Amino acid sequence: MILEKMSERNFENIHFRFDEKTGLRSIIAIHSTKGGPALGGCRFYPYPDEATGLNDVMNLAHAMSYKAALAGLPLGGGKSIIFGDAKTSKTQEKLEAFAEFVESLGGRYITSVDSGTSPEDLNVFLTKTKHVTGMTVDHGGSGDPSPTTALGTFVGIQAAAEIAFGSSDISGKTITIQGVGNVGKILGKHLIEAGAKLIIADYDAAKAAEFKDQFPEVAVVDHTKIVATPADIFAPCAMGGVINTDTINTLQCEVVAGAANNPLASMDIANALHAKGIVYAPDFAINAGGLIHVADELEGFDPARVEKNTRRIFDTIKNILTRANNENVSPAKIARDMAREAIPA
Ligand code: NAD
Repeated sequence: MILEKMSERNFENIHFRFDEKTGLRSIIAIHSTKGGPALGGCRFYPYPDEATGLNDVMNLAHAMSYKAALAGLPLGGGKSIIFGDAKTSKTQEKLEAFAEFVESLGGRYITSVDSGTSPEDLNVFLTKTKHVTGMTVDHGGSGDPSPTTALGTFVGIQAAAEIAFGSSDISGKTITIQGVGNVGKILGKHLIEAGAKLIIADYDAAKAAEFKDQFPEVAVVDHTKIVATPADIFAPCAMGGVINTDTINTLQCEVVAGAANNPLASMDIANALHAKGIVYAPDFAINAGGLIHVADELEGFDPARVEKNTRRIFDTIKNILTRANNENVSPAKIARDMAREAIPA
């Protein structure tokens, strides 16, 4: 079953670890090391069951290969997950056990931050493995990549607006954001500064309230309503699979462009979005800022270079969407084809 899933998508390795002492349950999925070591963050999340976690980590790792290739980085694609609620079950010992797991792979996989992990957690990883990037500045790292992801997503939204509305100026546009976490809250700030009207929702009501405190002009809706809330642009910045067979017909927007990894449940959904005339900015192209950020650290972090490379996401999204229009196929397929062309044989 697992080998079959791997062969369908050309996965090199899937590694599992259970650690009796700490209760660590973790998976590292390495999709490809053809372009270089597989770099991708570690997600700490309370998956309802193993199959859901495995599916998520494989989707995420696969997208990392595409993301690295499309961003022109000398890296492959991988990702890891730790099962559990980061708020209640994260312990230093568990993080150390995970880092030993990473170390055991000898550098084929380089870990970093994702939902449920922080640059401070990476500092802990660093005590057990050198195959980690994105630590805090005082630990030789470049800090949280989320602001860079947010910047890349912001310029990607401007590019998508140019294709959908004929101008990259988003002032006056209504934009819904699902999830005002590390990325969503900074993306929201950029969008407000650019004159957009925001409607936000977060599963964690405290995070939505905190954002509203900072920007009182923002409207807040219940997290179960955000996908179906009318807007010019919907920016998913939470978890994957939010646009699926149940939700696609509830969408009331012209553009879907956000930071979330794998927001579309399948390629069929990508095709259905295209058929509905909704412009979709592919996740692994628009949210590459974080990877550009942490990958730069491996070469000696240069903030100006990171910003320049991240702003190139505008052109990447514009090229994908232009080609999708010209060829009348979904942007998700075009982005996948472009990434596959860029991955070394
Ligand atoms: P985060 O955990 O800080 O934020 C996610 C937010 O979404 C949280 O506040 C959470 O409460 C909220 N949320 C979860 N489910 C929700 C739902 N159903 N409705 C509304 N809100 C919900 O994570 P993040 O680092 O901001 O990442 C957000 C997304 O962007 C993830 O999919 C992540 O994989 C992707 N991403 C992040 C980075 C990065 O640099 N952090 C880079 C690339 C991609």
